[in-house]
Amino acid sequence: MKILVINCGSSSLKYQLLDMDARSVIANGVIERIGEETGTVSQQNHPDEWPDRKNSEDVRVKDHEAAMRLMAGKLTDGQWGVLRSLSEIDALGHRVVQGGERFSKPELITPEVIESIRETIPLAPLHNPANLTGIEVAEELFPGTPGVAVFDTEFHQTIPQKAFMYPLPKAFYTENKIRKYGFHGTSHKYVTKAACDHLGKAVGETNLITVHLGNGCSMAAVEKGRCVDTTMGFTPLAGLMMGTRCGDIDPAIHAFVAKHRKLSLAEIDSVLNKESGLTGICGKNDFRDIHAAREKGDKDAQLAFEMFTYRVRKTIGAYMAVLKTVDAIAFTAGIGENDQFVRAAACEGLERLGVRLDSDENTTRRPGTRSIHARDSEVAVLIVPTDEELEIAQATRALVENKH
Ligand code: AMP
Repeated sequence: MKILVINCGSSSLKYQLLDMDARSVIANGVIERIGEETGTVSQQNHPDEWPDRKNSEDVRVKDHEAAMRLMAGKLTDGQWGVLRSLSEIDALGHRVVQGGERFSKPELITPEVIESIRETIPLAPLHNPANLTGIEVAEELFPGTPGVAVFDTEFHQTIPQKAFMYPLPKAFYTENKIRKYGFHGTSHKYVTKAACDHLGKAVGETNLITVHLGNGCSMAAVEKGRCVDTTMGFTPLAGLMMGTRCGDIDPAIHAFVAKHRKLSLAEIDSVLNKESGLTGICGKNDFRDIHAAREKGDKDAQLAFEMFTYRVRKTIGAYMAVLKTVDAIAFTAGIGENDQFVRAAACEGLERLGVRLDSDENTTRRPGTRSIHARDSEVAVLIVPTDEELEIAQATRALVENKH
């Protein structure tokens, strides 16, 4: 079974074609800077039978509809193509950022599902319109091919009301649906399953703290396989400090900044999303650059590192209190999987809470899921490479096969 996973971001489209029976990726690609003067499309073909493994070209991509057509062309054209016809694709898996309260599991795409996704646009105005375009254009490009929507929020729908409500006037929730939704759910779910596999424990018997540290950062408290709290909130701006996003700040800062720095609401929103976080403190958002600067004695880079890891460590403590017993802490995504310094600082001093890293294991680079805790650590500490595309493809396969 061949499944195409489609991830329409606000200005990009990522795609991955998987052969589920061979358990392999056939090709993956990304179209970037959609809507700008010059964009790029890049595709990497995996198996040996396609010798031109990597292709990339500059191209203007007007909008997400044009990006979908470009992707379909690249998958089948004479130079880059890995398919003779799009009809070889058996199913499509679409990432959808915001599923609201309506979606707590993946859904086969139907007119009603499309309508419900449309209704959640006010909650995710940058992302859900792009996701929806991907779904609608796919219906035309892949007629008769079943599609499945997998939501970033669905894994967090098990969070209890005491944790998802904000202490605001109740009507903000009842009338405007303002509550914690949480994001990165596909990653937290995948990592939960992979961590339990590694530990040899049933998902329903395991308590985990999953720590997704990439461009965006979030953590989840997972009790017996069900998410009970997460750091992102009504939007992906909340929680941990991130590359360019501020995470949790005092909400009164908005009004103060509007008055004293004379910024509009739109400008404040842009600063908090694009000019804050690691970038705001030290001008860099890639930890490889931040460590290089720290080594040269850059104080801002050092401060950014300390602020970032302090917030992760503080949240580990908070989620230990939420879960009461924790089997494992699982680090994932670009920083979580690759950055020994961040992991070490995030776990530093937690011995009395049962967390003890093995510094050799933490500093040795090896592929795959692995343990990095000391033998006498009560809580396991794991590195779990995330694979959101595989999670979406597996969910898609399960629903499509059930349908027949
Ligand atoms: P992601 O969103 O999961 O692709 O993660 C992207 C982030 O991972 C980048 O901004 C980097 O900060 C971080 N990253 C990637 N590779 C490394 C590495 N080798 N060491 C430290 N951080 C890394």
